[in-house]
Amino acid sequence: MADVAVTEPPKTARAAAPSARTRVRRMPTRGHYDRETVHAILDAGLICHVGYVINGQPYVTPTGYWREGDRAYWHGSSASRMLRQQKQGIRVCFTVTLLDGIVFARSSFHHSMNYRSVMALGHAALVDGDDAKLAALEAFSERLAPGRWREIRPPNKQGLKTTTVLHMDLDEASAKIRIGGPVDDEPDYALPCWAGVLPLAVATGMPQPDSRLAAGIAAPSYLRHLRVG
Ligand SMILES: Cc1cc2nc3c(=O)[nH]c(=O)nc-3n(C[C@H](O)[C@H](O)[C@H](O)COP(=O)(O)OP(=O)(O)OC[C@H]3O[C@@H](n4cnc5c(N)ncnc54)[C@H](O)[C@@H]3O)c2cc1C
Repeated sequence: MADVAVTEPPKTARAAAPSARTRVRRMPTRGHYDRETVHAILDAGLICHVGYVINGQPYVTPTGYWREGDRAYWHGSSASRMLRQQKQGIRVCFTVTLLDGIVFARSSFHHSMNYRSVMALGHAALVDGDDAKLAALEAFSERLAPGRWREIRPPNKQGLKTTTVLHMDLDEASAKIRIGGPVDDEPDYALPCWAGVLPLAVATGMPQPDSRLAAGIAAPSYLRHLRVG
């Protein structure tokens, strides 16, 4: 079972927004810009949504990602339209959302969600060269399941050729966090309806062995420790 909803605000000093366009204006007290907060949210997630524009049409593509230092990485088939466009260094908007709960208020207007999210603006860049690509893919594997890389067959030349890895710098990023219960209009606190938070979390189940798993191979211990959220 993954960790439950965040109940305490991050104990980090409030840093300034890295740029005017990343300054949270709507509910600004929910905005955070320090690396510690941004990195913690990114390290708790597994999927991002990358926004970009092709011929004037915005697309937002969900995909897996990982973080190393002050960079976010994602990857996929070299045939992917998204990756073919982005590897040219186009502008992207990278977002990650962790949903921590549904906030039930006493009026429809004040219903809300508890969340931790990150939005980063920048340019996608290609991870170039087989060695750099291999190191990035190992980092992704180790992020998912530490220890797995040394058990599995690494990518061969063809696998590397057909895989594109991209990254972007996280120097223009904001985090936004909502925690806590509903904030109702004062007269509504007297209403006879339940109010509070339904916590939400991603849960891991029991490992399901592949139908062609050779006899005598137990599920690795790192699967029991995998945490998302
Ligand atoms: C799970 C979830 C549910 C939400 N539900 C609603 C909803 O129902 N209605 C609603 O209006 N809003 C909702 N939000 C908040 C929403 O993401 C926006 O923050 C909000 O709509 C204000 O948008 P804006 O463009 O006016 O923000 P502005 O404050 O003008 O944005 C300025 C800058 O602040 C930063 N920023 C803004 N939002 C985020 C964010 N979420 N995470 C990180 N950085 C951010 C960006 O850098 C952005 O460029 C929800 C967010 C999450 C994660």
